[in-house]
Amino acid sequence: MIIQLENGTDERLIQKVEEKLSPLKYEVTHVKTQFGDYLIGMGKKQFDIRGIGHLEGIKDIHIVSDDYQLVSSKWKVSNTVVHLGDDVAIGCGNFSMMAGPCSIEGEENIMDTINFLKANNINIMRGGVYKPRSSPYSFRGLGIEGLKLWHKMAKENEIKIITEVMQVSQIEAMYDYVDIFQVGARNTQNFNLLDELGKQDKPVMIKRGISGTINELLHSAEYIFSGGNERLLLCERGIRTYEEASRNTFDINAIPILKQKTHLPIIADPSHGIGIRDHVDAIAMAAAAAGADGVIFETHCRPEEAFSDRQQTLDFAEAGRLINKLNRLKEVI
Ligand code: PEP
Ligand code: MN
Repeated sequence: MIIQLENGTDERLIQKVEEKLSPLKYEVTHVKTQFGDYLIGMGKKQFDIRGIGHLEGIKDIHIVSDDYQLVSSKWKVSNTVVHLGDDVAIGCGNFSMMAGPCSIEGEENIMDTINFLKANNINIMRGGVYKPRSSPYSFRGLGIEGLKLWHKMAKENEIKIITEVMQVSQIEAMYDYVDIFQVGARNTQNFNLLDELGKQDKPVMIKRGISGTINELLHSAEYIFSGGNERLLLCERGIRTYEEASRNTFDINAIPILKQKTHLPIIADPSHGIGIRDHVDAIAMAAAAAGADGVIFETHCRPEEAFSDRQQTLDFAEAGRLINKLNRLKEVI
């Protein structure tokens, strides 16, 4: 159950609600986000909400049957739009595109990508400066100095930055230089990281865990929302299955299912979703047709020289063709 409170509600109201609900064995949690004030009541007993609905300071009450609450679409009529500033928004009905290299590699790589994005009217650039790599001997990213350089160049060119944060200790240093924090598939259930991102007033895109279920992804989002941060995006990036012909199995089912279950924008990552350069465009198109609010994909001036994920990275010609196809598909949809 979600009880929406009027802004500035004082403790006495919260106590009154608790007094009414605790005899019914409801656990009550107070959630204060950048946009709202809520009491989440978790319990099983049915009761007449009129018993508390009349209390001054209560805006609305919603009975949500899901075990996640605030991210559920069962209480929020309109879909969430995540604003990044400068008229850039995700989830507002415009299909969003984010693109860039797997890893940020240096000045030339940043500039090449920015030029490509600008030529194609894309204003969000992806790239990792902290890279979760299966082998400790692989390139692990340029770190905070790389992010600062990227930020300077991106800002000069009105490009927004989405990049992965791998641990709590990185958040503070990264904060001023990112527009969207990305939680990687290996960290979807790093609850300490999720708790800490809940305290930030910056958008967060949470990727689905490598072997994670849709339900687990929604619960991870609930961690951040209930921690105080409503500015969330969810990302389907493929899951591990028994199939060996592709890096991951992009779960197309997840797109309409998530669209139904949550009011948060859903982003598709076809690059990691299939992991095969030749087929990234097919998966991106499928995800758009299935109702995704946007895509994030890997592109590089010379994919064969990319520091990571070469096998799934589009060159700029391929990426340009995909962007055109997505734009045309957008019109049809
Ligand atoms: C990435 O986006 O480069 C990345 C490492 O993704 P994932 O966490 O989905 O593997
Ligand atoms: Mn990658």
